[in-house]
Parts: sequence; C-alpha cells; structure tokens
Amino acid sequence: MNNLRNLRGTIDLLPEQLIKWQNVEKILLEQLSRASIKEIRTPLLEMTELFIRGIGEGTDVVSKEMYTFIDRGERSCTLRPEGTASVARALIQNGISSNPLQKLWYMGPMFRYERPQAGRQRQFHQLGVEFIGYESVRSDLDIIALAWDILGKLGIKELNLEINTLGDVNDRLNFQKSFLKWLENNKNSLDLDSQKRIHKNPLRILDSKNIQTKKVLENAPRLFDFLSEKSHERYSCLKRQLETLKIPFVENYNLVRGLDYYTHTAFEITSGALGSQATVCGGGRYDNLIKQMGGPNTPAIGFAIGLERLILLAGKDLEVVRNTDIYIINQGLIAESLAMNLSRKLRNYNLIVELDLSGASFSKQFKKANKLKSKSIIVIGDEEAANKEFLIRLFDRSGNENQEEIISFENDIKLEKWINNYLLAK
Ligand code: ATP
Ligand code: MG
Repeated sequence: MNNLRNLRGTIDLLPEQLIKWQNVEKILLEQLSRASIKEIRTPLLEMTELFIRGIGEGTDVVSKEMYTFIDRGERSCTLRPEGTASVARALIQNGISSNPLQKLWYMGPMFRYERPQAGRQRQFHQLGVEFIGYESVRSDLDIIALAWDILGKLGIKELNLEINTLGDVNDRLNFQKSFLKWLENNKNSLDLDSQKRIHKNPLRILDSKNIQTKKVLENAPRLFDFLSEKSHERYSCLKRQLETLKIPFVENYNLVRGLDYYTHTAFEITSGALGSQATVCGGGRYDNLIKQMGGPNTPAIGFAIGLERLILLAGKDLEVVRNTDIYIINQGLIAESLAMNLSRKLRNYNLIVELDLSGASFSKQFKKANKLKSKSIIVIGDEEAANKEFLIRLFDRSGNENQEEIISFENDIKLEKWINNYLLAK
C-alpha cells in the first residue's frame, strides 16, 4: 500500500493551495459573468476521432501527447487535451443553427502526455473562452481585451501581447506553395523534428524552438507577404483598434497555428515573470473548424488560459483566507447538543462557524480557536447548559478580548444584535 503514488505530471491540490485557486477562480467567474459569457461543460472523455479531426494529426498534441485507450466496448477514447474541439462538437450536436451567436466559457482539467516541469503538467487546467458565430474585427478585439483584462484584474505583471495574422485559406495556400519549395531546398539546415514536419504540417515549423532552425527561417518566405488586400486591411484594422484601446502589443510573424481551420488573428499573452514556460494565454480565430467538423459554416474565435501558470503569477494577496468568525467551544452531553444546534443556526447568518467536535479539554479547544485566529468564541459548558445560555467573546485584531456577553439560547434577538453590531461590522 505504501508505494501508491500519484501519476507523474499530476498533482494533489491541498487545502492551503486551494485558497489561492478559489480566490483566482472567483475573480475569473466574476469577470466572465460581467462580460455576459455563459458556461458550457463537456465530457472529459471523448471519441479519439474528435481530436484527430478537431486538432489535426500533424500536431504535437495529437501525435505525441494524447491519453488514448480502448474501453471495454472496444471504442477508442481520449482524455481531452483541450476544450475547443469538444465545444464545437457539442454545439453541432445540439443544433447550432437555432443559436448561431454564442459567447461561451469552460474551465477544467486537460490531459497531455508531456515532460513535466514548473508550469507544465500532464493533468493541467484551462479556462477557455469561445465566441461562436462572430466574424468581425471587433469580436477579435473584444476577446483579446477580455483576456488582457482578466490577467490585469488578477494583478499579473510584465504582460506581453503578441499578435499575428494567418490570412484566409487562400492566402495560406499561396504561401504554403512557396514555403514548401523553400523548405525542400533548405531541408538539410533544419533540425530533425522540422524536417519530419515538411510534408505533415509545414506551418508548424515556423514556431520551432530550435535555435539553428530559427536562424535559417529568417530567410524563408513570409506568410505576411502573401496576404490578400482584404486580409491586410483586417489586420491593420485590428492593430489600429488595439492602439485606440491602449492595449500594447508586438507583432510576431512566427506565431502560427498549424492547421487549416485557423484563420486571420492569432495571439499569445506571455509574462516575463514566468521563466521558460512563459505563455499564459493562447488564442486565435478558427473560422473553418465547425464546418470541417460537419457543422454549418460558422466563424469563431477563442482563447485558453493555463490556470497553473496563472496561479504561479497571481499575487500573494490572493493567498489570504477569511478567518473563522465563531469557534464554538463545548463540553458535556447537553452542552454538545446545544452547541450543535447553535452552529446550525449561526451558519444561516453567512458566518464561518467551526464547531469543535474533539471533546477535548476547554484549554485545548481554546488553543485551537486561537490558532485559527477566530474572530470570536462561544463557550458552552455544563454550567452554561444548565442555565440555557452561552458566553460569546469577541477578540480585536491583535487577539485581545474586547467584548463579552452572555446570551440565552432562546434570545434570538439579542444574538442577532450581537452579530450585527460586532461580528459583521468591519
Ligand atoms: P506550450 O507552447 O506552452 O506547450 P501550447 O501551445 O501547447 O503551449 P495551448 O494548447 O495554446 O498551449 O494551451 C493554452 C495554454 O494552456 C498555454 O498557454 C498554457 O498556459 C496552458 N498549457 C498548455 N499545456 C500545458 C501543460 N502541459 N501544463 C500546464 N499548462 C499548459
Ligand atoms: Mg504544448
């Protein structure tokens, strides 16, 4: 038994760590609901086929990183490595044409078989946002601003927005022809991984991390030079509007998504505070995905934020926990049952109430209340129980007693007054 451990690349989130997670999630949820974006939840497990078609065979995710297995019904299943394909499937399956414009978010675990390191796990979490049915430059701008503001709201420093455009399908076909020719001519100067991609997923070579390849690529044809006038105008418009909104950005011609259904805007937000796994948010437009998956022609744009990296970046102020409001110290048969009832009543006042269940000595229970920095304590012993009353004592910030009252169990009015006057007063 004692050799049982979690799988590599997965982690337990313990109560102390979850304080920050919950605070971050609360801010995220507030921001999303203020922007009128609705939640969608899809299964963690899907047909493998979905990701092969929805992400593409030539990608790292599909070719090397998926958790795929055959289930007892001999179906090939995969733990989702990302959310967009599932969202697209769910929308198509549930009748997208009756609701062609939707702003959606999802949050939850994703699975990728990668080499674990700081900010990179095999089970990790993403918040994703997808604007379905939106085609205009304004929707690109809105979604970039949303990602930017979410990160800003969490107090994340040293943010950099990188943008690029991939043009439309035609632009890319034109580019690909000349890029392929160039790749074949320069094959031997590329790293092995990139060489393998030439016929599988040539665009992906553009964001190779290999230094030698990067250098050689400086002389390659640029997608940018193959953009139609219309695509150029769209991209210029996005840049102008980002400037108007005072969202700083840099252009990165090598920011690509490897697949045919990605179009026009691609963006990434990195933070200088993150070290090597610097990307917190990746997003882009995917006007051809839903059609390619068998749905109606539906433009869309989205992004995903990695929550582990977000938690690493978010400030210490989000690690603060709300202290216990009332700690109920109790001992003796009747006292214990009165204490139980009182704790249930007090929780209706939106107070954090901890009922001591230890049956330990009063002094041990006092110590525990102290350790938790409880704002107040209630004491119920045999004597209090016999008199049908309890003692409630408030502490000031430095832990000194500064108010004390005896309240009868029947006197709800007095109890409420105490709560309003002292406990809920900031
Ligand atoms: P990377 O280049 O870091 O592998 P990616 O391009 O694979 O990122 P996306 O698929 O765009 O990432 O996912 C969006 C975000 O999800 C990333 O920017 C990152 O914050 C987070 N993310 C992706 N993979 C992992 C992982 N294995 N562990 C933790 N977070 C991850
Ligand atoms: Mg990756």
